[in-house]
Amino acid sequence: MIDIDSIRIKPGTEVSLDTFDPQSKAGISSKDAGVELAEGNLEKTEELQSKLWAEKKHALVLVLQGMDTAGKDGTIRKVLSGLNPTGVVVWSFGKPNQEELDHDYLQRIHDKLPQRGRIGVLNRSHYEDVLAVRVHDLVPEPTWSRRYRHINEFERMLTDEGTKIIKCFLHISPEEQLERLRERIEEPGKNWKLSDADFHERKFWPAYTDAFEAVLTRCSTDHAPWHVVPANRKWVRNAVISQILLDALVELDPQYPEGPNDLDELRQLADLD
Ligand code: AMP
Ligand code: MG
Repeated sequence: MIDIDSIRIKPGTEVSLDTFDPQSKAGISSKDAGVELAEGNLEKTEELQSKLWAEKKHALVLVLQGMDTAGKDGTIRKVLSGLNPTGVVVWSFGKPNQEELDHDYLQRIHDKLPQRGRIGVLNRSHYEDVLAVRVHDLVPEPTWSRRYRHINEFERMLTDEGTKIIKCFLHISPEEQLERLRERIEEPGKNWKLSDADFHERKFWPAYTDAFEAVLTRCSTDHAPWHVVPANRKWVRNAVISQILLDALVELDPQYPEGPNDLDELRQLADLD
């Protein structure tokens, strides 16, 4: 079992990312053990997803944030494969277009959130509005600094209305990012993933670290907690996130609704007697 408590940020904690090791194995003994754990978690998650869908009482939102190459796409591929796709929605949020900018910053996120019964995965999210936006001064400080409060209130409202929110920061080291960018240059099958922006953004690592620390410090709540996921090793990342997802579903404890109570009649109708 992975100790998720130690990577879940307790509300009110001043977070320093230095104290979290991106290379950590999260207490898992080996890669084989990690892969096996993730597979076992996925099987249990599938069963609970089926109940979540049938019950239609709650939605679940998994927020993924991290530096470029941290593994947000890989997580979606590995951790959610095997779930019933009908009940999963995945949205990636890039730079907002003009129409999105003409609304408030939460509107495009709210618009894509899953209905009850579904699992929604946000590959980047409203948090970019206090990350990229803060790092690049896209709006004045008084504008971004009040957004932490908006975000907490928004997530509180969603929770009150039946959406469970879990948030994962995929924590990699700058050395690991460089290695992954190098792979993207060297492996023809990965070239398409490259963009100048990745190299440009890398220069802002310290500013992003400050911005992420502010998010983790100010926006981890009991109802929508942040987790700092060690992500230098992909198998650790997958095992940890599969555990966080499973734990969230276990906590929601979805149940199949009752079927029709005249099963005998239906048996007769189907000539099953
Ligand atoms: P990628 O995930 O590689 O497609 O990159 C998407 C880019 O969009 C990243 O550089 C993000 O920082 C940027 N982005 C996402 N949301 C916002 C936002 N609200 N404001 C500014 N930039 C954003
Ligand atoms: Mg990118």
